[in-house]
Amino acid sequence: MESKISQFVVDQADWLILLAVLLPPAAMNELGVVAAERTIETPFGMVGPLALRRVPQGPSVWIMPYTGAATRTDPRATIYAAHVLGVRQIVAWDTVIALNPVLPRGQVAVMADYIDFTRGPGSFDGVPPSLPPDPEAPLRAVCPRLTGALRQALPFAAEIVYVGIDGPRRETAAEARIFRQWGADVVGQNMVPEAALAQEAGICFAGLMTVAELSAERSQTPPRGEVRASLEATLSLLPTMLSIASAETCDCLGTVAW
Ligand SMILES: [Zn+2]
Repeated sequence: MESKISQFVVDQADWLILLAVLLPPAAMNELGVVAAERTIETPFGMVGPLALRRVPQGPSVWIMPYTGAATRTDPRATIYAAHVLGVRQIVAWDTVIALNPVLPRGQVAVMADYIDFTRGPGSFDGVPPSLPPDPEAPLRAVCPRLTGALRQALPFAAEIVYVGIDGPRRETAAEARIFRQWGADVVGQNMVPEAALAQEAGICFAGLMTVAELSAERSQTPPRGEVRASLEATLSLLPTMLSIASAETCDCLGTVAW
């Protein structure tokens, strides 16, 4: 299938950014101008449109607007489309709700691990992803290379545990207390099971987050523009992250045979 499709792919990039944050279109020019647009048909539904942008002095990236709306793209379709496009590395950028009381609105975070509390299919029904080549190494939830590059480019980011839920709805205060007891720092709707599906497909995956709201059990404060300022600061550092990650290697392996 890949060889058939590649005849039609004129513009190529092996990076994909799943963008579940709201940014003004003009701000996106930090990642270069749009060079191409694609919509991909998959066995799990249509995906797109995705925009190809050419990062100045950096790699080309596919950008896919991605939100937890009722019309949410099937996560399997997203990862399948990434495979069809030849994507080898995915950064998902989500707006999240902070459960951990030390995380304020506008806080930037990098996903160290996650809990999947979603109910949809979280696998392509392949065999479980293989262990890393070092049998003594612990199982990992995200690509160490991309995650390390995020930490390096965004030194102010917190390292956190993400709990993924189905949406679109807010968590209840009782759920927030349970998630906190489980060790989760934030709750979101756009990164799992994508992280597991990417791992199954052998595509490197890392999670970036911006805290947009405080959880239902926390005392609320009115927003003062801190989220928008944080999003723009993070966006301006993404090209640095792409450069750092592109210069390194990792051993993420998948098991799905398409
Ligand atoms: Zn990797």
